[in-house]
Amino acid sequence: MKEILKSEGIVINVREYKDNNAILSIMSENGLNSFMVRGVYKQGSRTNKFAQILTYLSFNYSKSNLPLITEAYIDENYSDIKLDMDKYNSILIIIEKLNQFYNVINNNSLIYHFFLDCINLIRDSKYPMMVALIFEIKLLYLLGISPILNECVICGNKNITQFGCINLHNGGFICQNCLRRYYPSLNHEESMMFKKIYTTKINKIDESALGLYNQYPKLLSFIDDYYLYHLEFNSKVKKVLKEMN
Ligand SMILES: [Zn+2]
Repeated sequence: MKEILKSEGIVINVREYKDNNAILSIMSENGLNSFMVRGVYKQGSRTNKFAQILTYLSFNYSKSNLPLITEAYIDENYSDIKLDMDKYNSILIIIEKLNQFYNVINNNSLIYHFFLDCINLIRDSKYPMMVALIFEIKLLYLLGISPILNECVICGNKNITQFGCINLHNGGFICQNCLRRYYPSLNHEESMMFKKIYTTKINKIDESALGLYNQYPKLLSFIDDYYLYHLEFNSKVKKVLKEMN
């Protein structure tokens, strides 16, 4: 008999697999792992409900090259997020980046708990898109491409808090002197807000902070430009959202 093991985690990707089966990517403290579920796309399927992204499952699986889920329970369905389009879209933005970049992140536990914190913030907030923005800004650190936010990227001048502005291509602050030669991508106020979001711990972010971030819509397009320029990543989710608007 095959060995049966127990696990749990959040489904962040579902792919169709032969014979009406599906492969789920399930994220937990232990990493991002693939599991097969049988009969997901059969009519009257009883396993279809497990093959939904943003679903927290507890499950048993048999060990093999492609582990097979033999039994599963939905511990959390996050229906309050799924029923709210803005909230769900914010989650989709986050999940798309998790799927894209997970294997370059080497701290499984940190990214998992960061993801859970973002889900909880989105669930309770009027500004879910700001939570996606926080995720995207802080993810830069986990991807090892942190912007330079404590000194001028050109000359190393530490005096940036009064006039410094962020330049996209150089990936950080440009001081007042160097601004004669480099174009600012964000104005000073927006730049300081970007830095504030980057440096504020996720558990210190509350609804009033999210409301404040929401007053800086330029940061939303800036972060897209940042991912495009520095990571050659163009969000399909955001493209669809823009087309829908
Ligand atoms: Zn400078």
